[in-house]
Amino acid sequence: MRVRAVCLDVDDTLVDFGGAALAALEHVLGAPADGALWHQLTEHHYGRYLAGAVDFPTMQRDRLAGVYAATGRAVPADLVEVDGRRLVELRARLRLFDDVAACLAQLRADGLHVAVVSNSDGPHQRAKLAAAGLEDAFDAVVVSGEVGVAKPAPEIFRHACTELGVTPAETVHVGDKLDTDARGARDAGLHGVWLDRAGVGGELPDRVHRVRGLGEVAGLVRTLDGRARDW
Ligand SMILES: [Mg+2]
Repeated sequence: MRVRAVCLDVDDTLVDFGGAALAALEHVLGAPADGALWHQLTEHHYGRYLAGAVDFPTMQRDRLAGVYAATGRAVPADLVEVDGRRLVELRARLRLFDDVAACLAQLRADGLHVAVVSNSDGPHQRAKLAAAGLEDAFDAVVVSGEVGVAKPAPEIFRHACTELGVTPAETVHVGDKLDTDARGARDAGLHGVWLDRAGVGGELPDRVHRVRGLGEVAGLVRTLDGRARDW
């Protein structure tokens, strides 16, 4: 029995989000930005959003205020407008990775259901998919802000399986975060695949697969067993 469905993360899996976010930040700052600081602030403030402590716009503004504070700049009085300009610049810079179109076409040619499972705000993420021309590319779009639970919690992966009409064992999830995506999917009973675009490598957790690009996904999926597993 074969795998029947593939779920994909969005940011830094389908969309080159990290590069666009940093370029947009540098545009509004008018100066080079510290990518490590931005990543650190994003992890902190995004974690608060995913935990329900703040809403999405507040998360975005708090994060930007954090950049000013951490770099010794005064936080601008018009922070909301500055962040709005940053988002406009961000959307203008978003690009799909080169391997997305061929991957989606091959998964379809192989008769698979295809979905998105993303930790984000629903309207924000749906607008992003539409801007990338992917509004009709998926059988299900599952966004944490709309379902009330975020990766790596098993409920969001199982929610996607239910929407697709498949079992977790029949489903693969691919994403760029080893713990949030691959390990989380595995723990929900799916096949977890870590998209390691940078070639970080290292030892993999049990029953977690690794690909270097989306071009490897269809081939990997063909080797996986979709029968219910007992472990
Ligand atoms: Mg991601």
